[in-house]
Amino acid sequence: MVERDSRFDAVIVGGGFYGALIAVYLVRQRGLERVLIVEAESGLCQRASRNNQARVHNGYHYPRSFTTAFRSRVNLPRFVRDWSSAVTREFTALYAIARRNSKVSALQFERFCREIGAPLRRADPSSRSLFDARLIEEVFVVEEYAFDATVLGQLASDLLAESGVEVRCQTRAVRIEHGGEDGLQVELCGGQGEVGRVVAPYVFNCTYSGLNQMGGDFPGVHAALKHEVTEMALIRLPPALRDMAVTVMDGPFFSIMPYPPRSLHTLSHVRYTPHLHWEEVAGIDPYQKLADYPRVSRVDRMLRDAQRYLPAIGAAEVVESIFEVKTVLVKSEGDDGRPILFERHAELPGCYSVLGGKIDNIFDVLDKLDSEQIACSKLQAGEKSL
Ligand SMILES: Cc1cc2nc3c(=O)[nH]c(=O)nc-3n(C[C@H](O)[C@H](O)[C@H](O)COP(=O)(O)OP(=O)(O)OC[C@H]3O[C@@H](n4cnc5c(N)ncnc54)[C@H](O)[C@@H]3O)c2cc1C
Repeated sequence: MVERDSRFDAVIVGGGFYGALIAVYLVRQRGLERVLIVEAESGLCQRASRNNQARVHNGYHYPRSFTTAFRSRVNLPRFVRDWSSAVTREFTALYAIARRNSKVSALQFERFCREIGAPLRRADPSSRSLFDARLIEEVFVVEEYAFDATVLGQLASDLLAESGVEVRCQTRAVRIEHGGEDGLQVELCGGQGEVGRVVAPYVFNCTYSGLNQMGGDFPGVHAALKHEVTEMALIRLPPALRDMAVTVMDGPFFSIMPYPPRSLHTLSHVRYTPHLHWEEVAGIDPYQKLADYPRVSRVDRMLRDAQRYLPAIGAAEVVESIFEVKTVLVKSEGDDGRPILFERHAELPGCYSVLGGKIDNIFDVLDKLDSEQIACSKLQAGEKSL
């Protein structure tokens, strides 16, 4: 018999933004009473949910994936409505179109923005003069925002506390197994190596890069995954650029985005930010791969190239770099889209795996959950047999 303390209505593995929001949804929208989050790090939202470019996408970034662009347009207003205190708008967002090696021309970009209904206008001469006109065809002002991951994490923690969700940090889930009448059994490993077990009719695997690192009866996700060890530089911009975000489209170029948690900007570069990448293979834990990676910065190369297009960035001060694993679906390689992965594991009833390619995709996941049969009744039925 399983101890009452170890029985839950649902166990969420992974305390990033997705795991946290799914936990809150299960309590508030689906009436589950005992929900547990287990998180390997010492706190919530410490990994991809913090170590990212902080862009609240509004479609502009995805001229090759109409679906992702369109979903971004739908989700941005929802994100701004629900997380307004985490959203920063106090900067001018510029999208510049490169003359050479770009997969999109200025005309095509304008037409695409019109099709998805995303507002844009040609930048004024002072903004345009920041760019080298020999390399940049056109500069547009767009409506795009940044999120503060620290505020977002705090808001998510507050919601979890208000919803009565139990959170166990420094706890890794290592196996998910059929647990007979008890539903699913999750084996946990604490910070000191201590092992424990919890059971629940529902288990949500929200471990981002770690989706396939679960042992036991967990079948793995069907979608092929690609992992990248990424570097984003944190920089302090010179006054001429300080209130700006710049994205050069669409190819081997760069972006600078506000990074509100540190009042700095991130610099990322399509060519230099991914240090290495691999398609998911059994036996390679992406988090371990990152931990073992020597982390030799490529910020000099990022800056040198960015400076060709945007000379003023040459005066930026480099503060440090953020390294993180980024996980995307192999099927999105061609169009750079960011659909969600949402898998209900038929081989392990009650177990789901979720991966959201962008922060605002959480709404697509919650929409999906609306049509799942999830109820508290399984636990209540189980309690009778205790
Ligand atoms: C470099 C980079 C840049 C990005 N830029 C943007 C952007 O500008 N805009 C945007 O919208 N999105 C961006 N994203 C994507 C966005 O960050 C993710 O879609 C989102 O944060 C995913 O949230 P999550 O909760 O699934 O993942 P995470 O926040 O990584 O949460 C997963 C959690 O699971 C935990 N975990 C893993 N394995 C286990 C285990 N076995 N047991 C217990 N816990 C475990 C991890 O410690 C982690 O905390 C970026 C991502 C990266 C990496």
